Amino acid sequence: MNWDHTIREVTTTLQDLLRFDTTNPPGNETPCIEYIARKLKRDGIESVVLESAPGRGNVVARLKGDGSLPPLLLMGHVDVVPAEADKWQRAPFSGDLVDGIVWGRGAIDMKQMVTMALLTFLLVKRDASRIPLKRDLIFMANADEETGGRMGAAWMVKNHPDLIRAEYAINEGGATSIVLGDQVFYVCSTAEKGSARFTLRSHGEPGHASQPNKNNALLPLSRAVANLIETPLPLRVCKSAQAHIEAMARGVDGELRAHVLGLLDPAQHERALAALPLADAQKRRLSAALHNTAVPTILKAGSKINVIPGEAECQVDCRILPGTTRESLEQELRAGIGNNVDIEFGPIYPALESDPNSPLFETIRHAVEEHEKGARLVPGLITGGTDAKSVTQLGTKVLGFVPMRYEGPAMTGLGHNHNERVSVANLEFGTRVLYDVVTRFCGKA
Ligand SMILES: [Zn+2]
Repeated sequence: MNWDHTIREVTTTLQDLLRFDTTNPPGNETPCIEYIARKLKRDGIESVVLESAPGRGNVVARLKGDGSLPPLLLMGHVDVVPAEADKWQRAPFSGDLVDGIVWGRGAIDMKQMVTMALLTFLLVKRDASRIPLKRDLIFMANADEETGGRMGAAWMVKNHPDLIRAEYAINEGGATSIVLGDQVFYVCSTAEKGSARFTLRSHGEPGHASQPNKNNALLPLSRAVANLIETPLPLRVCKSAQAHIEAMARGVDGELRAHVLGLLDPAQHERALAALPLADAQKRRLSAALHNTAVPTILKAGSKINVIPGEAECQVDCRILPGTTRESLEQELRAGIGNNVDIEFGPIYPALESDPNSPLFETIRHAVEEHEKGARLVPGLITGGTDAKSVTQLGTKVLGFVPMRYEGPAMTGLGHNHNERVSVANLEFGTRVLYDVVTRFCGKA
């Protein structure tokens, strides 16, 4: 294997993918998807490009195995969230490579992983000694993850399930490694939060703003909004988060271990979290794995400056842990915000949780330990939603694993953020790990 050449190819491929503006909405993923199809074709791999609607492309390709074991799916989305270009140091769709860093919206979520998976797929094809594989290896790049997947993974599951049905899938999630004391942990997600978005609505007495009344609809809504922002919902420890915390605790000792375990105790949680030597973004992620979260994002009230509004509303993005029901959530919410506002729920998507003890998890564990001496793989929970919610409907066990080294606070928490970027060093590390995982899990010998 010529890794120098491979790393150049990974880097330029990622730069190319980042230059397609796949901001969703509207997505317009097809040109990016067709680029991937052309790249597969240059290696003699026929892929299928399928549009769920004009411009909303998805691509699937397969390397045949001998059928002795069921398939592995490498999945990823090419759509990205919008970028506020004026807040970036480099144009968000430049794909610039500067001092070993590739810049662009999607560099972390998740064109870098799509690139690493694509190159892994191509490397397996090029390495004839691995052929035939024990398992079919399937590659899917899809549209529309960022607005829920209706035109991407969910559409594929509904319309072309046979193309992507697999026993296991490797997906986004898992995130960058965590360093605690001297111990390095890599996270492989075995669970994913669900969502239960809702609208808070308050009513009051409309009137002329020159004659104030205290029954302004904004008052009860403001109090509820302030409460949601200031007061977290109660600590809730699900199986996967517990496994995550306990596995990390086993890797450290002394005071550090006490702080890690303290996260699971409602009386110690806040203090323990504050005491942990982690970046803020990592603390937020840990905290979100141990609470249902309800974050006010869109406020609407009033139509004219001199009219007291009779109604006000706030949309709330709410993420729920495994085991949370609408009833239990409403109870948690009411305990904080009281009963002066209505709660109107939209559709509720339950959380996903699977067994961390699986052959794929073990394969990933070995690869991680081999590529970074002393590192440990721990199960974990993704706090956002991904396309796993669609693909698991086919019975696939989806693990979230994006092998990326921790490179300090400035390179952490960049997904969906300004100045999203990734280092070439991490692209190399991630591709090497992923290639080992896939060849061990699917290859002969
Ligand atoms: Zn993503």
